[in-house]
Amino acid sequence: KAKKSFVKDAIETINELDKNIKAFITVNENAQDVPGNFSGIPLAIKDNIVVKEMKTTCGSKILETFVSPYDATVVEKLKKAGFSIVGKTNLDEFAMGTSTEYSAFYTTRNPWDLDRVAGGSSGGSAAAVASGEVVAALGSDTGGSIRQPAAFCGVVGFKPTYGLVSRYGLIAFASSLDQIGPITKTVEDAALLTQIISGKDPRDATTVEKQIDFSKYIGKNFKNICVAYPEEVFAEGIDNEIARKFEEFIKFLESLEISVKKINFPELKYAVATYYIIAPAEVSSNLSRFDGIRYGLREEKEGLLETYLETRKNGFGPEVIRRIMIGTFTLSAAYYDAYFERAQKVRRKISSKINEILSNYDFLITPTSPITAFKIGEIKDPLVYYMMDIFTIPANLAGLPAISIPFGFSNNLPVGMQIIGKRFDDAKVLGFADFIE
Ligand code: GLN
Repeated sequence: KAKKSFVKDAIETINELDKNIKAFITVNENAQDVPGNFSGIPLAIKDNIVVKEMKTTCGSKILETFVSPYDATVVEKLKKAGFSIVGKTNLDEFAMGTSTEYSAFYTTRNPWDLDRVAGGSSGGSAAAVASGEVVAALGSDTGGSIRQPAAFCGVVGFKPTYGLVSRYGLIAFASSLDQIGPITKTVEDAALLTQIISGKDPRDATTVEKQIDFSKYIGKNFKNICVAYPEEVFAEGIDNEIARKFEEFIKFLESLEISVKKINFPELKYAVATYYIIAPAEVSSNLSRFDGIRYGLREEKEGLLETYLETRKNGFGPEVIRRIMIGTFTLSAAYYDAYFERAQKVRRKISSKINEILSNYDFLITPTSPITAFKIGEIKDPLVYYMMDIFTIPANLAGLPAISIPFGFSNNLPVGMQIIGKRFDDAKVLGFADFIE
């Protein structure tokens, strides 16, 4: 049966709107209809997920010219389902950041206010969906990079349970935390896309065999369930307006006959510090492959060592270098116990605490971000920048499913609320999000 194709329309729209938004690094001008159930539907892919014969830059100079010879598993599955990949979206270099300001190329603008960031690191994907350039996009989430830009742009962002979606073809940032997921306009679409991209993959040993019907609870009633929120939410540098919106959110849930209980989660204040030991440690190892020999940029010098050094010095931006240095330091023999090993212990404590909370409640709720989209260039201190991940990081440390859904506006900027569920309760998280959407 002939179906309408939106592929050419999407490319035209992107070429027009992206002059201002700058969500894309590559536009696939040659995108065509692909046969399949979803034929004619254009999708965008974050530029740290490889698509065969297209550039994958990771927002970095070191991969500026890199063209992948293969498709990531998620891309292979999407193509098989009939989706057309119309482009690759901007991100903070190697997904390290919260605003796309650390992209080596340019900063993506928030469609709601072009002077503000779209969030990050999947800021390009979120802005592409929010502006209507595409109906859906994939992002990656290591500490909040799907959920936080979704919140800043007023769209839906879902991070599945760790292990449900293959990371094969996702350029690794912190492998024990990374997970691919959808950014969409509706929760229903997020469920649909997760269904397509998920599944056990022999090429990613961390994927699990698990049959989940992600749309099972879409359209279902969730009244009489019991959710919890940490009282520490109000302590962690949260903007007054977001605190007020969160109170409004609680009242809204209560009006739907959902019971909302305040609980204690004192470990929350250690989440950011723990993450910023573990993630850079994994970075220092994962990014050692970018040596000027195997991929992308090569700054040829007299000797091999000089070639490595020159390539990495010129190829990596400041945030990536900062993380490699922190990771190298915390993994070094003299400091391993004091930093890395201790962070692993705290990670376990945080995970068991969230799991304990979730054994008594259906979901844990928080605002997605303690602030709304900030002005481009406004935040300069890396420590202030890192604190923005406070509410999103725990779900990565514990490998749990978490979604951000839009909940109104504060000073004309979108606000997102987060729902965290038990491991493999992805369908319920999506169902509950759909219920309150
Ligand atoms: N903002 C966090 C960081 O900079 C998370 C990034 C992500 O999830 N990729 O590491």
